[in-house]
Amino acid sequence: MKIKSIKTGIIRIPLVTPFKTALRTVEYVEDVIVCVEADNGEVGFGEAPPTAVITGDTLGSIQTAIHDFIAPALQGMELDSLDLIMQKLHGCILKNTSAKAAVDMAIYDLYAKSLKTPLYKLLGGNAPEIETDLTISVNDIPQMVTDSLAAVKKGFKILKVKVGKEGLKDMERISEIRKAVGADVKIRVDANQGWTAKEAIQIIKAMEDKGLDIDLVEQPVKAHDLAGMKLVTENTYTRILADESVFGAADAITICESRAADMMNIKLMKTGGLYEALKICSIAEIYNVECMVGCMLESKIAVSAAAHLAAAKHVVTAVDLDGPSLCKEDPYESGPLYEESRIRMTDAYGIGITGVPVNFA
Ligand code: MG
Repeated sequence: MKIKSIKTGIIRIPLVTPFKTALRTVEYVEDVIVCVEADNGEVGFGEAPPTAVITGDTLGSIQTAIHDFIAPALQGMELDSLDLIMQKLHGCILKNTSAKAAVDMAIYDLYAKSLKTPLYKLLGGNAPEIETDLTISVNDIPQMVTDSLAAVKKGFKILKVKVGKEGLKDMERISEIRKAVGADVKIRVDANQGWTAKEAIQIIKAMEDKGLDIDLVEQPVKAHDLAGMKLVTENTYTRILADESVFGAADAITICESRAADMMNIKLMKTGGLYEALKICSIAEIYNVECMVGCMLESKIAVSAAAHLAAAKHVVTAVDLDGPSLCKEDPYESGPLYEESRIRMTDAYGIGITGVPVNFA
């Protein structure tokens, strides 16, 4: 079974409400979809969002990387040689992690289909059901309280609250949300690099003193400021989760060695796909560091690839895969089942998604 072609197309799905973080505001999921076809006619699907403010990738750069570099490098390769394919994928062009992720997951999809197994079983097959949090966008306090209550009413037991634009006012946001949702809901806070190390220590300590019971704080400081993040980790009790600071396996080693964070957030768009993500899982196991598996603004193909990873690895103890819940519609057929906070894997082979309404070229 050989790789015959690698084609791309675009999908556009409106969001239920605009997605706002300290870095950006977005109203649509507009992603590159990849179709890898084998010479026997079987296909695998992948997806990549243009998250320019985080990975540097745009719709144009993702498609160019795939058409001009990745497709010519991989066409004609034997699918059985998965390891060689991945060496080529990561070696044929530098960076471009989103383009690599889309092709990587399409190839894993195809590979698992050729072995007639669901992807999560191929990757380790730990738990066929996972629980995700839901993101609450950064807004004025009454809006965030309303959004949080609506999420809890829908059955979400874990909220990931976006803050990071207004220092101590962020603490007030969390305080009001905690008051509204009560003690039984887990609250995670994502600052998206919005604080300095000193601000982060001040805010997190204040939240601890107030007994707000925060599950973890994600990326309090700038991505490159590992010394700052280490300072925050050492001076607070709350778990600190590295997100924008950890792209690939080499970053993971740096963070684990220096104890700059308590946890790491694995996203396929940062790692360049499952192959590199699996390396981070192994590193995390060695250093006894728990991981979150998260997503960018992705629809069901990319989020499901990540869900298969989360379902396969015991070192993944937190799941932030709410992309499909944020979309107004599901344009695909089949795939893992998204039942609000619960994601259930099915017995379908590969990632499991069929009926992809995209014109590939
Ligand atoms: Mg984050």
